[in-house]
Amino acid sequence: MSKIAADLKDHLDGEFPLVGATSTRSTVTIGDVVIGERDFVVIAGPCAVETRDQIETTARWIRQHGARILRGGAFKPRTSPYSFQGLGEEGVELLRRASLKAGVPFVTEVLAPSDIELLAPRVDAFQVGTRNMHNFALLDALGRQDKPVVLKRGFGATLREWILAAEHVARGGNDRIVLCERGIRSFGEETRFVLDLGGALWVRERTRLPVIVDPSHATGTPSLVGPLCRAALAAGLDGVMIEVHPDPSTALSDGDQALEFGAFAELMEQLGPIATAVGRGLG
Ligand code: PEP
Ligand code: MN
Repeated sequence: MSKIAADLKDHLDGEFPLVGATSTRSTVTIGDVVIGERDFVVIAGPCAVETRDQIETTARWIRQHGARILRGGAFKPRTSPYSFQGLGEEGVELLRRASLKAGVPFVTEVLAPSDIELLAPRVDAFQVGTRNMHNFALLDALGRQDKPVVLKRGFGATLREWILAAEHVARGGNDRIVLCERGIRSFGEETRFVLDLGGALWVRERTRLPVIVDPSHATGTPSLVGPLCRAALAAGLDGVMIEVHPDPSTALSDGDQALEFGAFAELMEQLGPIATAVGRGLG
């Protein structure tokens, strides 16, 4: 067997043949923003799109303060069917307009394979939420289109299950995948979930994919979001996703954990010197 064939065989026999670690790491481009290179990328925005003014003001604010990608949910996977479920298609339109006006690409969650065709031409990247990490029909369908996928870890999933979920997407042909650790469930109730920073680093070692973390959903506590973003940057992860709202007290979802504008600006200021100290940029 030739050396190349032997290397390939070793690779395919590996646990993660498509997304497993290789000598070069992958980068994923969302709009004009590259994740997985030198820059630490901040993705920020409200949990849910609520009004045109809310999403446009937020997009402008996060952009002015150095975030590179807007987030916002239009199709919301709520634990209770009686909670606000998102604005659906109208929400995606509002996101699209806000993103174009502010000059930032956006990511939004998709819940069902049947929505992909409608959304693919309109979004810059798809998000798979924690509750859908095991939805293999959704993962396989996202693998058959070419928009990037931000794949959150299931809150009860092992690290290997999370990487195998990425293999599902990659098997369809789409390896533009960013992994996002968003907290796992443990016995404590004091923080909403537990941010598994060590797990995120383990996954970054064993795959070629960029790995980011979401301290907003992980802690449910605004005051813990900044310190964990700083830790993620110092530890060498590729970015963060955080929730920001112009008036968290009136938010229709996840208001308790959202940063208000002042706190977000302060956080971005704190990240700058850390990025410099560890030889990174703030992307
Ligand atoms: C979200 O990003 O708003 C969200 C619902 O996240 P998760 O799937 O991590 O709970
Ligand atoms: Mn949320």
